[in-house]
Parts: sequence; structure tokens; C-alpha cells
Amino acid sequence: MPNRKLVAGNWKMNGLAASAAMLEELVAAHPTPACDILICPPATLIAALAGGAVPIGGQDCHWAVSGAHTGDISAEMLADAGATAVILGHSERRADHGETDVTVAKKTHAAWRAGLLAIVCVGETEAQRDANETLDVVGRQLGASVPDGATAANLAIAYEPVWAIGTGRTPSLEEIAQVHDFLRAELVKRFGKETGSGIRLLYGGSVKPGNAAEIFTVGNVDGALVGGASLTAKDFGGIIAAA
Ligand code: PGA
Repeated sequence: MPNRKLVAGNWKMNGLAASAAMLEELVAAHPTPACDILICPPATLIAALAGGAVPIGGQDCHWAVSGAHTGDISAEMLADAGATAVILGHSERRADHGETDVTVAKKTHAAWRAGLLAIVCVGETEAQRDANETLDVVGRQLGASVPDGATAANLAIAYEPVWAIGTGRTPSLEEIAQVHDFLRAELVKRFGKETGSGIRLLYGGSVKPGNAAEIFTVGNVDGALVGGASLTAKDFGGIIAAA
């Protein structure tokens, strides 16, 4: 099991130049955190925020190195701007931009090509959970979104139930444990015991300072991917302190 948790913040489409103050406040309040930290701001802020005490990641990348892809950013561009990681296959990207497991796998390969940690997101919708399809759905997404070549250093998986994102609702600890244990077993089956046990499994979806500590007690939860509560130093700091 990975020995340090990873607490990653996904700012989504939030943040202007003034947001740099939040990182300063966070570092001042948590100079030596017991977990690894990552902030994934909008692409416009990556270069300005990278290079400081908090590692910076992107929220998506294209799979090509460069070329005629208006509006897109390559993994190499993220690395060039100072990013060390990238979130891939977030459910909002899958829903808003038609991303499929196949495109996510291509993007994951691109992230590795550029030397980035890929944080690949999987998760069921509420209808899929109600239909008892959760493990089938996340198993299928995991299998098809992650190409061969994963290591404990280049991949983290974020389990994010779609119905828990931004809603204030979370699965029970037993439900989180069931999915994380399943994902761990799948990773071990595919990549072997050492690699499969070392890849970090993050939980995401309405993680807050008030529920983070209990979520972090669940076996095979190696950190969190945090949306709304990553926008202020107080809330994100509260989650870091719980890790
Ligand atoms: P949330 O978002 O913490 O606001 O629920 C999580 C995510 O989408 O990564």
C-alpha cells in the first residue's frame, strides 16, 4: 500500500490570477503536510502557479504532441508550463466533451510520454448504481482507460461516483471500501502485485473537511480528489490535515 496519501485539488473552471494567494495561505498554514498535495488549476494559471511549494497539474490534455487541434493543450505543453500531473477522463469531460475510455487511454499514454502522473477517473452514475452495475462500470472503465505500462509512479486512479460530485452526497464507507477493494484487485491482476498494490486509489465526490478523516480510514483509500473544497485554503487545508 502506498505510504503517503495524495490529496489533489481540482479547481475545474474556477480561478483567476488572484487565486495565487490561496496557495500562499495554504503553504503558510501547512508547511510540512503528512500527505502529498497537488493543485490542478485551469490551464491559464499553470505557468504562474508552478514551481512553488505545491505541485501543479492539468485537468485534461490532448493525445497528440502538437498540431491542428484548436483549443487543445498537449501533455508536453502542460509539462513545459511546469505541471507534473494531469487529471484524465473526469466525468465532466466524459459528459461534456464525449470522452470515451478509448480517448482517455490515448491521453494517459500521452501523459506518460511527457513524464506526467496521470490521474484517471472512473465512476458510476446514479442509475448505474441503482441497477447494481457499479463494479461492472468501474471495472470496464479501468480496463479500457488505462493502457499497458502503468507504474506506481505514473498512475493514480480516482474513484468518483458521478452522483456524489458537487452534491454533498457520498457513498457509505462500506460502499467506498467495496469499490476500492475491487479496483485494487483489478490493478493487481493486470499489473502484478508490486505495481498494482502501489498505484494510489483516490476517492472523489463531495470530500470536505468534515468527512475526510473517516474516508481516509477506509482500506485502499490512498487519498482524495477534491473539487469544491479545494478552492479555499481553509477547506483544502482541513482535508490535508485529515490525511
Ligand atoms: P466535488 O468534486 O469535490 O466538488 O464533489 C470532485 C471532483 O469532481 O473531482
